[in-house]
Amino acid sequence: MYDVLTTSFRLSCPQHGETSVRLSRFRRLEELPGPHHPAVYRIVFECGCGDEHPGLVAQDDLDLAPLGLEDDRTFLNLMTSRTDSLGLELTELAAQRIKAGEWPWSFYCWPEDRPRPVFPSAFRLLADGARGGHVGVAVLCPVCGRISVNLVSREHVDLPFHNDREIGVVAHVFAEDASATIEAFNAELYSASFDARRLTLD
Ligand SMILES: [Zn+2]
Ligand SMILES: [Zn+2]
Repeated sequence: MYDVLTTSFRLSCPQHGETSVRLSRFRRLEELPGPHHPAVYRIVFECGCGDEHPGLVAQDDLDLAPLGLEDDRTFLNLMTSRTDSLGLELTELAAQRIKAGEWPWSFYCWPEDRPRPVFPSAFRLLADGARGGHVGVAVLCPVCGRISVNLVSREHVDLPFHNDREIGVVAHVFAEDASATIEAFNAELYSASFDARRLTLD
């Protein structure tokens, strides 16, 4: 489902069959109701064919696979001439960085006026190409439960541990319900009401 070497998800396109999709090409994420272990997200992504398609992604694939936790492939370690587990290697790297105080993803919570660590399953809406190639992302704060809209680079979304130093934040408190948020999201993305905020988690 997720390929750590290309940092993209394998999803299906009715025209091309399987296609490779980076997280920044996701457009909407919504948790499926009901008891799923792990949770399952209904997503919509913008495909290379020009259309948007739906897909289903498990929470583990969204949040853990980009860190290497789901990867059972092996590689030849040229230092030791042994075959090592790619997933294990990446997981150890990720664990070291998290222990050192780095978090794979972060965002700026506007209602709380502070940066917060986050996982991609908290992303709700994404829009590519806003303001000179930036990505607008609506994030459901895991702590206060409210939505903030940040303007970030594609790498900030697609690459774990790539956190932009400074991002744009929409100075707007978004409604709880999804359809009102989508409307406000689209309106605010193209308005002038962005504030710059620093993403330093300590
Ligand atoms: Zn397609
Ligand atoms: Zn918050």
